[in-house]
Amino acid sequence: MAGLLSGLANLGLGNLADAKVFEEPKEEKKEAAAPIPPEQLEKDMVYDRVYECPMCSSKIASKVMKSGKAKLVKSDQDLRPVYEGIDPLKYDVIVCPKCGYSALTRYHAAGLTPTQRKLITENISKNVKMTPRTEEIYSYEIAMERYQMALACAIVKQGKASEKAYICLKTAWILRGWQETLDESKPETESQKAELLAAENEYLTNALEGFMTARTKENMPICGMDEYTVDYLIAVLAARFERYDVASRMIAGLLGSSANPRMKEKARDLKESIVLAMKKKNQ
Ligand SMILES: [Zn+2]
Repeated sequence: MAGLLSGLANLGLGNLADAKVFEEPKEEKKEAAAPIPPEQLEKDMVYDRVYECPMCSSKIASKVMKSGKAKLVKSDQDLRPVYEGIDPLKYDVIVCPKCGYSALTRYHAAGLTPTQRKLITENISKNVKMTPRTEEIYSYEIAMERYQMALACAIVKQGKASEKAYICLKTAWILRGWQETLDESKPETESQKAELLAAENEYLTNALEGFMTARTKENMPICGMDEYTVDYLIAVLAARFERYDVASRMIAGLLGSSANPRMKEKARDLKESIVLAMKKKNQ
């Protein structure tokens, strides 16, 4: 039988005689799907925001994630937020390239007391040699340098336990994000991962100590977290390091409190995972 359009030859359209009615055009589709490199995607999600350094009054341009641009994929058990296409945690420290004063965005605007200014001048600004940075996006190496600067400044200015704990927690999250981006096919990845994981655990241990101190000495909320969130976080970190007595105490407190049902659910899940871990350990 002739094609559906065979009659059109008389009208000069004989080339369409064998045209397939339901065949989709292939070539164009392929071209449209050209992937955008991840670096470009990240570049599109950040912009330079100008801050004033509370130490030297310099105008600092710091990269910030555009709000509403990235999609939250999940939260880890210790509340680390994971986004699609970008790790916004890399952009949460403001560093002054002139005097070295660095802080988490949350604490940057809080300013400094005269004593703290003196301590920063003596112990940071006088000695620091900052590397000029012109990168359009921050690598994990750069992010680590920024977090370490923030921690150094928090220690030197004798900041609150909660501030230091929060920096340690977020630094650990940076190290975790870094591990997740490593190329598994490279032979050096295994040892690099082990090194980063060891550092992550060191930061988390310090975060745990700091939050436990802050819990008894500071007024809630701390680091933007209410008392239930802080207790939950302490429980998660304590469980990670097999300090089950601390974890169990926090969980019992949470379950008997007026924390919201979602938080209680998380506490129950954690309790279950601790029971399993203890059983495994005793086997
Ligand atoms: Zn400065």
